[in-house]
Amino acid sequence: MKSRFKAILLRKDGDTQSAEDVELSPDDLMPGDVTVAVSHSTVNYKDGLALTGRSPVVRKFPMIPGIDLAGTVEASTHADFKPGDKVVLNGFGLSETHYGGYAELARVKGDWLVPLPKEFSPAQAMAIGTAGYTAMLCVLALEDAGVKPGSAVVVTGAAGGVGSVAVSLLAKLGYTVIASTGRPEEEAYLKDLGASQIVARAELAGEPRMLGKERWAGAVDSVGSKTLANVIAQTSYGGAVAACGLAAGLDLPTSVAPFILRGISLLGIDSVQMPKPRRIVAWNRLARDLDTAKLAAMTQTIALSGVRQAAQDILAGKVRGRLVVEI
Ligand code: NDP
Repeated sequence: MKSRFKAILLRKDGDTQSAEDVELSPDDLMPGDVTVAVSHSTVNYKDGLALTGRSPVVRKFPMIPGIDLAGTVEASTHADFKPGDKVVLNGFGLSETHYGGYAELARVKGDWLVPLPKEFSPAQAMAIGTAGYTAMLCVLALEDAGVKPGSAVVVTGAAGGVGSVAVSLLAKLGYTVIASTGRPEEEAYLKDLGASQIVARAELAGEPRMLGKERWAGAVDSVGSKTLANVIAQTSYGGAVAACGLAAGLDLPTSVAPFILRGISLLGIDSVQMPKPRRIVAWNRLARDLDTAKLAAMTQTIALSGVRQAAQDILAGKVRGRLVVEI
């Protein structure tokens, strides 16, 4: 094990937050029964919030940010993991209360780790990252709610990370994918991922009506607020909406009408504390159902030095698809 390792460290002094490049010793890491040599992390929307301090994601300072990581086990006292094992980790308090993925070394609880599916390299696992794994959780929830392939599913924030993976997964599974985006220039990109129809973001961002024309049987929403209310109001009888995001806001200005008159289900998706068995199902389904050529087409790779700029860009809605960080 290296005696020193590189990391980004967030500090807070009064109201001022800074992100510094530092070198730490393995002794500086938090307690855990598995030490991982991190090869890749990613930049998700939540990383943008954490790095800029725009929302109180980080609950303990100093903090190594990075809500997810992939790498190789260096040391382990956990029964399920041994040196050399490839692993992936999303959430479970990384970058909130526990040091995260923007570092060459991480020490975590083995109970948080998922074995890397053999179909993926660590770089591919992080191309999926928390955003893609959450997209899969949304698809699993829609399946459980009875939304069947062949039916129409709308994906909001479609050109973002969750959106791009959701479009690609749903298309491969045989759903008719309607992609909602604020970036009309990404129409060709979204159609290449499998979208059959593009809806302008503005069309779903207006004042929501209680009920609208029935347009889709299901939805994956990473936007929240009025967009989610409009999506719910236009879901067909008995349909289901998986809500995972807040890119437009935390509010939800809706009524009970879609639930009591159309039997719509609103499915809340949390990736952070999702129990391990469901995580393993999600990763195995990603290995089966995600087209890796499409994954490559939606992914850019940056260095650790690029994450501060990427954090600004993702919050500004400028990032297309997924950003992998090569540690
Ligand atoms: P991205 O920034 O990659 O994607 C968000 C997309 O939403 C953007 O690309 C853009 O898509 C759209 N968007 C951005 N701003 C607005 C706005 N003001 N109004 C309407 N649409 C907007 O982020 P991620 O994919 O990483 O995450 C998406 C959301 O899901 C975030 O809110 C994130 O916090 C949440 N999330 C939640 C998880 C959970 O466990 N519940 C896990 C992972 C993510 P376009 O340009 O196509 O319109």
